[in-house]
Amino acid sequence: MKRDVGQTTRDLRRHNRTSVLTRLYLHGPASRFDLMRATGLSSATVSNVVTDLVSDGLVAEAGLLDSDGGRPRTLLEVRPGYAQVVGVDIGETHVQVGLFDWTLETVATATYPMEEGRPDPAVLAALVTAGIDEVTVKAGADASAVLGVGVGVPGVVLPDGLVHAPTLGWSGVPFDALLRPHVQAPLHLDNCARTLGQAEVWRGAGRGAQRAIVGLLAVGVGAAVATGSPSGVTSTTSEWGHTVVEAGGAACRCGSRGCLEAYVGADAILAHYGQIPGAPELSGTGTEARLGALVADSARPGAAAETVRRTAEYLGIGIANLINLLSPDRVILSGWVSAAMGPSMLPAVRDAMGRHTLDYLSGSTALELGRLGPEQVAMGAATLPVHELLRPGSRSRI
Ligand SMILES: [Zn+2]
Repeated sequence: MKRDVGQTTRDLRRHNRTSVLTRLYLHGPASRFDLMRATGLSSATVSNVVTDLVSDGLVAEAGLLDSDGGRPRTLLEVRPGYAQVVGVDIGETHVQVGLFDWTLETVATATYPMEEGRPDPAVLAALVTAGIDEVTVKAGADASAVLGVGVGVPGVVLPDGLVHAPTLGWSGVPFDALLRPHVQAPLHLDNCARTLGQAEVWRGAGRGAQRAIVGLLAVGVGAAVATGSPSGVTSTTSEWGHTVVEAGGAACRCGSRGCLEAYVGADAILAHYGQIPGAPELSGTGTEARLGALVADSARPGAAAETVRRTAEYLGIGIANLINLLSPDRVILSGWVSAAMGPSMLPAVRDAMGRHTLDYLSGSTALELGRLGPEQVAMGAATLPVHELLRPGSRSRI
C-alpha cells in the first residue's frame, strides 16, 4: 500500500499547486494570506507551494501591499517569462499564428490571407508550420522552449482528432495528423469559439462574469458559454449560428432555412447587400475588405446603412434568445465581424436585444464587445496549452 500513499501524496501536492497557480493566473497578484483564503489551504501549505512555484520560475514576487496595522504583505504574481505558447487561428478568410507569453501578452504574429472556399488541409497545415517558424524567428524565440501549440478551428474536433468544419468544406479531416510531424511542442486542437470564449473570460471582456456567453462572429457564427468558478473557467460551445430566427427564411449552408448565420454571418451580410437594387459595388477584394467597405459606407443613408440595421436586428434577436434561454450576466461579441461592425452597430443591437428579451432578464445582462484585439482568435487557441498546464493531473512540465 506504500505506493498508494505515495501516489496520493503526489496527487495532493499537485492539486494544491494547481489551486494556487490557477488563482494567481486568473485573478492576478495576491499575497500568501489572500491565497490561503481563496484556496482554503493552510498557511504552511501555501508557503511551501509558493516556494516551489518561485523556484521553478512560474511565480515571482511583485512588491509589497500595505496592510492595516500589520507588517506589509508580499504580493505574488505569475511570471510571464516562464514560458511561451503558440495560438493558431484557422479562419475562413485567413490563417493567423501568434506567439504569446503564457499570460497571453502578444509577442509576435504572422497572418496569411487564404483562398476562400474549400482550402486544402495540407496547404493550410503548411501555412501553420511556416507561421510558427516566422513568429519564433521574429521574436528570437527558441522553438523548443514553447510550452505548446493550440489550434482553433471553425468546426468540431472529435476525440480521434478528425475535424468537421462545414464553413471550410471539411468533413473528417485529420488535421491533427497533418500538423503533428511538423510541430515539436505538444499540439492541441479545439473549436475556435470555445477557445475564444475561454480567452475573453480569462483576459478580456468576460473577466469576473459568473456566466458569460461569447459570440464569435465571422463567416460562420458560433458561441461559447463560459462559466466561472473559484477553481477556473469552463467553456462549452453551442451551435448558435444554426438557431432559427426566421421561419422559412434565408437558406443556410447547413440545409435548414432562417438560421442566424444566414443573416449575420459575413457572407450572408454581403449577399443581402448585393441583392438590394442599386447598391453600389463595394471596393476591395475578399470578404474582410468588402465588409470593411460596407461599414464605411454605412455612415450615410443607403443600402449599406440598411444592411447594417438589418444585421443588428437579427443579431439582437439571436442574443435575446440566448438570454431568455440561459440568463447569462454578460454577452460578449467577438470575432473579426464584430470588430469591424460592432462599434457602429452596437446601439441598434442593444435596442433589438431589449425588445426581444424578457424585462426581468434584460436588466441583468450586459452586452459588450470583445477586448482582445486583432489576435483574439489566435489568443483563444493559445489558451489550450495553458489550460493543460493549469489542469489538475496535467502532464505538462509544472
Ligand atoms: Zn444553419
